[in-house]
Amino acid sequence: MRILVINCGSSSLKYQLIDLEKNKVEARGLADRVGLQLYESATLTHKVNDKVWKYEADMPNHYRAMEEVVKALLHPEMGVIKSLDEIDAVGHRVVHGGEKFTGSVLIDSDVEKAIEDCISLAPLHNPPNLTGIRAAKALLPNIPHVAVFDTAFHSTIPNYAYIYALPYEFYEKYGIRRYGFHGTSHYYVSRRAMEYLQKTFGIAPSESKIITCHLGNGCSITAVLGGRSIDTSMGFTPAEGLVMGTRCGDIDPAIIPFLMEKEDFSPKDIDEVLNKKSGLLGISGETNDMRDIEEAVAKGHKRAKLAFDIFCYRVKKYIGAYAAALGGLHAIVFTGGIGENGPMEREAICHGLEFLGVKINPAKNDETIRGKEADISEEDAPVRVLVVPTNEELVIAEETRRVVSSIK
Ligand code: ADP
Repeated sequence: MRILVINCGSSSLKYQLIDLEKNKVEARGLADRVGLQLYESATLTHKVNDKVWKYEADMPNHYRAMEEVVKALLHPEMGVIKSLDEIDAVGHRVVHGGEKFTGSVLIDSDVEKAIEDCISLAPLHNPPNLTGIRAAKALLPNIPHVAVFDTAFHSTIPNYAYIYALPYEFYEKYGIRRYGFHGTSHYYVSRRAMEYLQKTFGIAPSESKIITCHLGNGCSITAVLGGRSIDTSMGFTPAEGLVMGTRCGDIDPAIIPFLMEKEDFSPKDIDEVLNKKSGLLGISGETNDMRDIEEAVAKGHKRAKLAFDIFCYRVKKYIGAYAAALGGLHAIVFTGGIGENGPMEREAICHGLEFLGVKINPAKNDETIRGKEADISEEDAPVRVLVVPTNEELVIAEETRRVVSSIK
């Protein structure tokens, strides 16, 4: 089965054409700066195996971007298919499914309406997701379209972990609760870890206790018990939990009205501070990018060092909390740009967790190969520390196949 996976952001459209039988990504790419009236034009980057094409294209909206993607897939030179009939289904990443969607669904008009109803919960993400769905449905009207939600994996979190200690009526009135995000990533890497733990150590998947750390621009950490998410650090929005590139993560909520009063901030202003001006960027005053933080640390930049320390300390603290929530621990999994490529961060996070049974092998930690899974623990360590490159697109393609097969 050949699935087109679409991930639509506010000004971008990422895609992969995946042949699930051959387990192969046939083409992938990114339409960038879609709908932006900037000096730079929108570009399409299209990749097939090792070949890359990058060119400007007129993409004033997502429909036009989708048209360019289809053109590239069918192109005599860049293309990988001869006709759109060769695509069996489309899988769409949708950020917020609210409480309604606890799993992937076939998209019909009711589902579109329900995704629209979730816009107040994810005002930045659900509108472009929906635009992408509508554009793809217009261009590929005769095949099934499936929505795969970032929040769905966390629908198993118990109420004592998802209800905030606010007046209960706000949960009832506005749906204010922990939802969690990065669900497809936490699901994928925890599943890979469960397979590894079973094969190598005979640990039954249903008994497994795993903490997954997705550390990218956005960062979240999840406690996975027997394959099910039981707690996660992002909450009502992605701003809660870990320190991120530009998001603050956990802070005392009373800081918000304090700052609003002192700085005469509107709700929009404070939202911008918490989501766009905080995190690594806010602390260092320099950058939201961990590679640049590392460089600055090496040059003796004090606030970059502070940002690095706060970042790693926060992850460590959550690992301790989630080990308690799980009642034990078999493995910690690192994924995302920082988790997959940052030995310094992994070392700093795991340092001091020896009491839990965590022991990293420094050579294995330093020698991980980009894109490859690795167990970086000492041979005798009771808790395995794993690096697992995430693959959200594969999960979306598999989920799409599962949903499509179940309706046939
Ligand atoms: P997104 O969350 O947007 O998908 P990524 O998962 O690609 O982002 O993660 C981006 C982050 O990964 C950036 O902070 C980047 O600096 C960091 N990163 C990428 N490569 C490395 C590396 N070799 N060492 C440390 N951090 C890295």
